Amino acid sequence: MSKKVMLSMVILLVCVGFSFICIVMLSNTKSQPTNDNIVKPKNALPIKYEKNSVTYVNGHVIVNKTLALPAKYKPGENKIAKKQLNKLLKQAEKRNLDLKITSGYRNFESQSKVVDAFVENDGEQKTAKYAAKPGHSEHQTGLAFDVGTKQSLNDFHNDFEKTKEAHWLANHAADYGFIIRYPKGQSQDTGYAYEPWHLRYVGPQLAKVIKEKNTNLESYYHLNK
Ligand SMILES: [Zn+2]
Repeated sequence: MSKKVMLSMVILLVCVGFSFICIVMLSNTKSQPTNDNIVKPKNALPIKYEKNSVTYVNGHVIVNKTLALPAKYKPGENKIAKKQLNKLLKQAEKRNLDLKITSGYRNFESQSKVVDAFVENDGEQKTAKYAAKPGHSEHQTGLAFDVGTKQSLNDFHNDFEKTKEAHWLANHAADYGFIIRYPKGQSQDTGYAYEPWHLRYVGPQLAKVIKEKNTNLESYYHLNK
């Protein structure tokens, strides 16, 4: 009889012990971080750093009115960006849109020549609104392209935004990894007037976020603070 009692007690103890282990394991699971309390990348601050006098934010080269590129920075045309631009142009052509590349990579010296020519035509003040000083042009990154229509427009700077081509670009450039670098109504942040023709390659992920938020690199990365 006492053996039976002993056995029952052992079984009971094993059961209690097992339940205890289960409870401890369950409560441990509850204290594990969940998707909600892990800091997601989109909540993290952008990482800004400088390498060989070139500024990067989260790996993206940044150049604007305040941040310049050194004259010796000559990366050439970015192959991925160009490939993506060609895809974009092909798609535009399929849709009977009249788009072509009008400008791509420019090194420091060629930017100087371009600006000199603009100043001669438009004067220094007007030129400053749409043309960057040498070292401050995004075209020096090899990641920026200007597009235009094959058919010439009377006043390209004012008329391009009204074309169906510009409208399509605004809606689809991000699919190919490009942003409209100087969006309408954001010149206070970017330092430049609206340029519906100037595309900057940042990759599809960032391009889509910037498009959806209707923002620009300076605001998105808090670069003017
Ligand atoms: Zn441009």
